[in-house]
Amino acid sequence: MDKENRKIKISPIRNGTVIDHIRKGQALKVVKILGIMKQDTDSVVSIAMNVDSSSGKKDIVKVEGRELLREELDKISLISPEVTVNIIDDYVVKAKHRVKLPGTIKGIVRCRNTTCITNQKEPVEPEFLVIHEKPVSIKCIYCERETKGEEISENLR
Ligand SMILES: [Zn+2]
Repeated sequence: MDKENRKIKISPIRNGTVIDHIRKGQALKVVKILGIMKQDTDSVVSIAMNVDSSSGKKDIVKVEGRELLREELDKISLISPEVTVNIIDDYVVKAKHRVKLPGTIKGIVRCRNTTCITNQKEPVEPEFLVIHEKPVSIKCIYCERETKGEEISENLR
């Protein structure tokens, strides 16, 4: 692809959110987290993969017309902690920040341990402590089972 085409593909949006510096190959996971496949069909979403950046290749996802929810940001931080979120207002970047990995993860990841209390009939919400940031590793507060890397994205609820 030549440079001109690439420019068109990642053209600016008027209002919405640009999720930048997504780890290469993770864009579709971000799209899945945003629930775009199943709902929210009004939002226009553009995806750019394997984009050149100063630190190698990256993916970018743009969502028009809305900002992200706290839960979505937390999930994204788990699968791609280097992400920066740009809030766009009338073509101008109004705010720009890194996603921040929370200290505890509640309700958004399933425990991998099938005998864990959070996987039984009782309504116990899964909860994890973040024990390592790079790579991300989390530990269930009930059964202490660790979940890390790819396993986290596979167990997102
Ligand atoms: Zn557990």
